[in-house]
Amino acid sequence: MSTDLGARALEQLETVFGYPAFRGQQGDIVEHVAGGGDALVLMPTGGGKSLCYQIPALLRDGVGVVVSPLIALMQDQVDALAEVGVRAAFLNSTQTYEESMRIERLVRTGEIDLVYVAPERLMTPRCLELLEASKIALFAIDEAHCVSQWGHDFRPEYIKLSILHERFPSVPRIALTATADHQTRAEIALRLQLDDARQFVSSFDRPNIRYQIVEKANGRNQLLEFITTEHGGDAGIVYCLSRKKVEETAEFLNQNGIRALPYHAGMEYEKRSANQSRFLREESIVMVATIAFGMGIDKPDVRFVCHLDLPKSIEGYYQETGRAGRDGLPASAWMAYGLQDVVQQRRMIDESQADETFKRVLGVKLDAMLGLCETLSCRRTRLLEYFGERSTPCGNCDTCLIPPVSFDGTVPVQKLLSAIYRVDQRFAAGHVIDVLRGVSSERITQWHHDSLSVYGIGSERTEAEWRAILRQAIAIGLVTVDHEVYSSLKLTDAARPVLKGGQKVQLRQYQKPVKPKRATSSSKSHVELDLSKSEQEIFEKLRWWRVETARAHGVPAYVIFVDATLREIAKVKPTSLNDLRGVSGVGEKKLVSYGDEIVALISEML
Ligand code: ADP
Ligand code: ZN
Repeated sequence: MSTDLGARALEQLETVFGYPAFRGQQGDIVEHVAGGGDALVLMPTGGGKSLCYQIPALLRDGVGVVVSPLIALMQDQVDALAEVGVRAAFLNSTQTYEESMRIERLVRTGEIDLVYVAPERLMTPRCLELLEASKIALFAIDEAHCVSQWGHDFRPEYIKLSILHERFPSVPRIALTATADHQTRAEIALRLQLDDARQFVSSFDRPNIRYQIVEKANGRNQLLEFITTEHGGDAGIVYCLSRKKVEETAEFLNQNGIRALPYHAGMEYEKRSANQSRFLREESIVMVATIAFGMGIDKPDVRFVCHLDLPKSIEGYYQETGRAGRDGLPASAWMAYGLQDVVQQRRMIDESQADETFKRVLGVKLDAMLGLCETLSCRRTRLLEYFGERSTPCGNCDTCLIPPVSFDGTVPVQKLLSAIYRVDQRFAAGHVIDVLRGVSSERITQWHHDSLSVYGIGSERTEAEWRAILRQAIAIGLVTVDHEVYSSLKLTDAARPVLKGGQKVQLRQYQKPVKPKRATSSSKSHVELDLSKSEQEIFEKLRWWRVETARAHGVPAYVIFVDATLREIAKVKPTSLNDLRGVSGVGEKKLVSYGDEIVALISEML
């Protein structure tokens, strides 16, 4: 029985979706759920969660009900399924009454395979009655971490979803999330009554993403250099903390020849969704956004995700960077980080309205994030360790590629701590560094700080070097910034053993921002590199064909074919439908819809 189910699942994967094999645990999950079991699935972004419920819904009798908070994206999801020949629809508040009635009828008569429903809609008596009167194949609860009250995506309606288990005890449920930590997992199991569900925890590694964290000098220019030298013409996302910075950065990129669009919660709804839609539909757009942007954005060919400000936690950072390279092709996660980021994030915690317990949780999360920034070892190892996974150095992050230099920083840190102490812990970073470097300024004369024993004891280092040392001293908790009083630097209890000489401090050597080689006009993103010149031409041609086709169908380009599929076509150069059938991502429906056009296009170019 179960192997038969496995064979049928594989057949659906091949004929409908056009993929030759399941990835990772997909096959086991599909078999388990198709066989009627409950499942809790933790898989990183891009891991391939959708198929885990779509295929069981096709294999089981009745309609698969997908609960999702992402109303704005339901249309695209349904369109993407239509492209592969799966009958899907959605029920949400954006529809007319007549349209809902029509969909409800299809659900009742079992004429569709999948229906997407917003959680608040699902909870209405009308909807529950509809489901009771229909044959339900399964419930899929997407973005299941929204049930967690600790998380930043908390949705109160999600808590009520436990009702599904009570009203439909015999229907299998599958909850899915890309949030990995134990606390969230436990909360999902508890609140959705999935304690007995089988848990499928995938590795959270995203080997195709290259992690880079650079010391911030002038963040904007560094960003521009990074995009032009490594990702010319690619689609990407740039995250900033504030709305103002989003606007300014988008404008700056546009002035420098990069097509960038802003996105933040302060924009008008129409403008914001128009920008989102352009990002999804057009090629090579850079979205500059606050973290309000991104959940459920399943554009597979986002080639880079940049952070111009430090994220609050590793969970957030990993979720955001995970939006790069869902298609499995090489992608980058790049961040610029400096003293100001540490100060600002600590300040936001101090000044938040949260109670002490919550502030402590925030502090612990920030410390882990800082640890990642300051680490001397592999970034990926650090990230995965945070999610409870062991790994060896990856060879695809900045610290693996250009190992940072560490040094015994005990003496400079002692100098720094003494200087803070000698100016009575009443001055901010700039002044303390001036004192250390023996700079003469009006303020130094005014306070007679040039007569202090610490004046000039750090003249051998540049200001940037001292900032890097101070940043690390704050990151490891030796120094705090008092935001109430002129951002003055203060020593913590942890500073004492260092000052007294009992404890050594290991620091990361300040690395002068290297000026990357200038972008040349032929600068190409590295994904494009492994095609020969003529194949590259075919690929470009196929991309144009895709743009036109997508526009004609009113869907995002990747819904027609993802880059990986177009690249494989360019390599294989199919001259018959049969050749094309073997390409990953070409299922039966797409073969019928586009096969002739593609074969003709290739034949023309050979
Ligand atoms: P997630 O929801 O986990 O972020 P998706 O379900 O959106 O991931 O899948 C990410 C990408 O990987 C999609 O483009 C999808 O078509 C592709 N994909 C998923 N499973 C497979 C597979 N078995 N073989 C090839 N591509 C796959
Ligand atoms: Zn590494």
